[in-house]
Amino acid sequence: MQHASPRLDIPAATAAIAKVAGGPAMLHAPEIGGNEWIYIKECLDTEWVSTVGAYVDRFERMLAEYTGTTYAIATVNGTAALHICLVLAGVRPGDEVIVPSLTFVATANAVAYCGATCHFADVEETSLGMDAARLDAHLADIVEQRDGRAVNRLTNRPIGAVVCMHTFGHPVDLDALAATCARYGLPFVEDAAESLGSTYKGRHTGHHGLAAALSFNGNKIVTTGGGGAILTNVAAIAKRAKHLTTTAKVPHPFRFDHDEVGYNYRLPNINAAMGCAQMERLAAFVEEKRALAGRYAEALAGVPGLRSFIEPSYARSNYWLNVALLNRGNEDQLEPLLAALNDAKLQSRPAWTPMHHLPMYAECPRMDLAVTESIAARLINIPSSPRLGRAPQA
Ligand SMILES: *Cc1c(COP(=O)(O)O)cnc(C)c1O
Repeated sequence: MQHASPRLDIPAATAAIAKVAGGPAMLHAPEIGGNEWIYIKECLDTEWVSTVGAYVDRFERMLAEYTGTTYAIATVNGTAALHICLVLAGVRPGDEVIVPSLTFVATANAVAYCGATCHFADVEETSLGMDAARLDAHLADIVEQRDGRAVNRLTNRPIGAVVCMHTFGHPVDLDALAATCARYGLPFVEDAAESLGSTYKGRHTGHHGLAAALSFNGNKIVTTGGGGAILTNVAAIAKRAKHLTTTAKVPHPFRFDHDEVGYNYRLPNINAAMGCAQMERLAAFVEEKRALAGRYAEALAGVPGLRSFIEPSYARSNYWLNVALLNRGNEDQLEPLLAALNDAKLQSRPAWTPMHHLPMYAECPRMDLAVTESIAARLINIPSSPRLGRAPQA
């Protein structure tokens, strides 16, 4: 039976979100209240301010320990980490790389930096991430194996890799995607920029592919001001990641030799110092954000015309950004709802404009993107700072 979807009640939605937020709230404010001051001061006092220093190593060890990956390589930002992941996956100029259209622009830009072309995949509503079953069917349609490479027979370009993204912290169905990648012999990379603290079937995100990229931008769950990291369990990949991100310098006490075109992508020690202080509090941030998500779920349950987004059944999500999803039929209420929330000083925003609508990616090949279109027309992110999860109830 098809029921007419109830009309969105904008005043009720605004009141429910205001009650949880407990007052004016940013979308995501950084939490700086621990050892950041002490560790950064130590960098300044000792003059270890740049890309070599004890905090870089310590930050990498903390990341590896927390995520359970064997290696972590810190970079200047998440986009740089993703770029290197693609290089390490063997993406070459002229390749196509499968990425979701529903993502932050960095995912697509990293493909472009390799001289490759994005090929956009659709997402599923249960995870907001790539739909493995439909991607598999799409690849069955278009892929031809030529000289050991999966080639898009419609464009004659080899498919160099598949990059999934854990949208707003919610893990995609990694087993299903990894199986699809294996079936077509495609290297698999995770854009885990939003999912630090999120687990898939009990294991941290970032283990399923060749490598994964993290981001520590100012609005992420852990911030270093700006920063990123590459996670991998493969020793050779880790070694090459470190080499490529440090200008491909051949280690030597005083000689400057470089054996290929590298990148100046190493994270400075000051930023890593901040990251160490933040990592000490990550587990608490995750708990606070999960508590906040629980309160939103409760408050929004009674609001006609929308629902809060709940983690997929196989996942324990960091709920980086909380999501309210309007019911189908309420697309025309998205702008008025965003206006009402922002007027009430509850900083909220729509999903990113899907990549295939951006001028530089409009001509890229893609599969049917109906779910991406529908979600982009119905999704908003609402205030999600960890502190809101520990604020006393109004
Ligand atoms: C934040 C983010 C990145 C990386 O961003 P940087 O600002 O370069 O650290 C990449 N992909 C997604 C999906 C992101 O949200």
